[in-house]
Amino acid sequence: AAKRAGGNRVQVFTDELRVPVQEKIAAEARVRRALAGDPRLTLPLWFQPVVSTVTGRIAGAEALVRMRTPEGEILSPFHFILAAEETGLIVPLGEHVLRSAIDHLLHWQDRLGYVSVNVSPRQLAEPDFVPMVASVLAGLPGFDPSRIVLEITETALLASTVDVSERLTALKQLGVRIALDDFGTGYSSLTWLKSLPADIVKLDRSFVAGLAEDQRKASIIQAVLWLARSLGMSTIAEGVEEAADWEALRVAGCPAVQGYFFSKPLPAAEFDVMLRESFERATFEGVHLRETM
Ligand code: C2E
Ligand code: MG
Ligand code: MG
Ligand code: MG
Repeated sequence: AAKRAGGNRVQVFTDELRVPVQEKIAAEARVRRALAGDPRLTLPLWFQPVVSTVTGRIAGAEALVRMRTPEGEILSPFHFILAAEETGLIVPLGEHVLRSAIDHLLHWQDRLGYVSVNVSPRQLAEPDFVPMVASVLAGLPGFDPSRIVLEITETALLASTVDVSERLTALKQLGVRIALDDFGTGYSSLTWLKSLPADIVKLDRSFVAGLAEDQRKASIIQAVLWLARSLGMSTIAEGVEEAADWEALRVAGCPAVQGYFFSKPLPAAEFDVMLRESFERATFEGVHLRETM
């Protein structure tokens, strides 16, 4: 980028580069503080529902980490995940996310089917990752491990130095499920599909947004749905923002969707309210259904 900028813009680029570096150092320090247990600087999980197109109800949720600063500001992962990955802090951060996600899932009991967490390639490459997941599960007798979904980003796998397939197989042997996140954005999507033991394809939102008015997107979605189904995998469409897209996906037979149309990610307390409403509706409809049958 510096080369393309030309001589007269070098100064500008130097300044632009300095800001992110300083931000990264600050972000690293904050993640460290939060993980050390500082009550004023925390890493709460927010939850976004995954909605079944068959029942119209919440099937599961994706846990998305946030940073809450002492000033009460909520920062998106964009501001600290990269720094955490580069410094290796993503390893303890990832364990925090997994444990916290399971705590919430246990609290929600029958009202929530599963929770998914994002796993960065840096975590997956760690020799301790599979034993860490195993030890978390070992502390939960009677817990169905398939209620945990680990999301692996397709593009990020390219840089991985470990045998990803082997690692995922070991995770699957623990009973957790694997989702391929942002599916379709990498340049070897079909290779991943062929070689990785995944359970769920999460179709990237670039194929989803506006699909109702775009025949090419609709065709790609049809093909991915068919392919996933043939391989015994389920599909979740990400980034559903419009009623027309939800309807098109439902008609196409996409089993589940996620996106602002249904809900943005919410703090746990707000997600709890949404879940109760969804569950009460479901219970009511269940009773209604039994009575009329
Ligand atoms: P992701 O896993 O692909 O998560 C989906 C992102 O898309 C979330 O952004 C979510 O808020 C956003 N999104 C959901 N529905 C819509 C929609 O309808 N339209 C649009 N435009 N966006 C939508 P968020 O929460 O900012 O997270 C960004 C990324 O940060 C995640 O992408 C994930 O890669 C990463 N991330 C989040 N939490 C964690 C974590 O605990 N660990 C790791 N390693 N990465 C995480
Ligand atoms: Mg994800
Ligand atoms: Mg995603
Ligand atoms: Mg994404």
